Amino acid sequence: MAQTSVYETVMVQFSRAADLMGLDPEIRKILSSTTNEIVVNFPVVMDSGCVQMFTGYRVQHNNVLGPYKGGLRFHPAVNIDEVRALAAWMTWKTAIAGIPYGGAKGGIQMRPWDYSPAELERITRRFTFALGSNIGPEYDIPAPDVNTNAQIMAWILDTYLQMMPPLERNRCVHVVTGKPVESGGSVGRDKATGQGLVYVLEAWAKDYDFRLDGATYMIQGFGNVGSWSARLLKPHGAVLVAVEDHSGALVNPNGIDPDALAAYVAMHGRAQGFEGGTPVDHETFLRTQADFFIPAALENQITAETAPLLNVKLMVEGANGPTDVDGDRILQEKGILILPDVLCNAGGVIVSYFEWLQNKRSEFWDLAEVDGRLLKQILSAYRRVRDAVQRYNTDWRTGAYIVALTRLQTVYRERGIFP
Ligand code: GLU
Repeated sequence: MAQTSVYETVMVQFSRAADLMGLDPEIRKILSSTTNEIVVNFPVVMDSGCVQMFTGYRVQHNNVLGPYKGGLRFHPAVNIDEVRALAAWMTWKTAIAGIPYGGAKGGIQMRPWDYSPAELERITRRFTFALGSNIGPEYDIPAPDVNTNAQIMAWILDTYLQMMPPLERNRCVHVVTGKPVESGGSVGRDKATGQGLVYVLEAWAKDYDFRLDGATYMIQGFGNVGSWSARLLKPHGAVLVAVEDHSGALVNPNGIDPDALAAYVAMHGRAQGFEGGTPVDHETFLRTQADFFIPAALENQITAETAPLLNVKLMVEGANGPTDVDGDRILQEKGILILPDVLCNAGGVIVSYFEWLQNKRSEFWDLAEVDGRLLKQILSAYRRVRDAVQRYNTDWRTGAYIVALTRLQTVYRERGIFP
């Protein structure tokens, strides 16, 4: 089966919202394409002494609302189509979240698990060097994404600072976000995407009389977003009945303990072998009966093939683009409501914005301050989306896009098109 183009998925989602709201056709042309696409091929010396060539990407989709912003992922599926789509999603996400950023995304096409820590460090540093002044603290600010973490951000920071004149260095700490706290990161950034997702789900549950206490759910992906979402849902009394990661799937109708599973995954790098659940195949996992499903892995997971199997009432998208166009249509036909990625997973970039502000002001906020501001920011995004859903009588993804496109349209109209 041909792999769906993720950028086509974005464009279908975009067109649906643009048609419904009557987006200005001239602005539609601008937002339909990316602004800059940087592709770099660079050599790295491996531990063996051999040289290996890598291909890295950074796509800058739009910066009318502020500097380009978005993560870097290290994964074999990284290619220009995927990075374009992920960059566009960042433009919508930051616009919905109401933060002063544009959208970008990047990454390296590679299998990160095949490299030693020393090799990963050299790959990261050489990629940063190759990107050169295509990134910058007031221009384009990377962050973690799939298979990248605070350590990788620290290497990017250090490499970038080495390329600056000494007098400039301490003014550039905000060139990346998601850094280790000691190197200028923000407390609460690690859990921020999961925390934002839980805040959105709580708000929706309250508005639509959905009881989280005792609700059953399943998660696909137990990395940063999946594991934090599960751990933060535990105090709400929600019961994790099925989980799947790259190593396989587990079910347990009595509940899988998210903290124990997170500790196991931190030690073994996979869920497989965890004793708190029974191993099942992918199809059995998808057919699990539960109240809601949090996809928190990669794109194109809920498709024409897999959507018919789902037995849930609600999808809370933690990953970027987990549902393709057919999957979306089938879920809607089945009456499964989708709370979309661009709203649900915005907590990460919102706290990235807080980290960036703290760096610019040489401040350190405590966790209560970060969480309190995140709650306020994501709740107002949630309300804007909910209001658009009601006003346009549409689905939540289209409502979220309308919020983003309305904001972008306003700014283009105010500023005009140069010259
Ligand atoms: N990679 C995350 C996302 O997809 C975070 C981006 C950021 O913090 O800039 O939203």
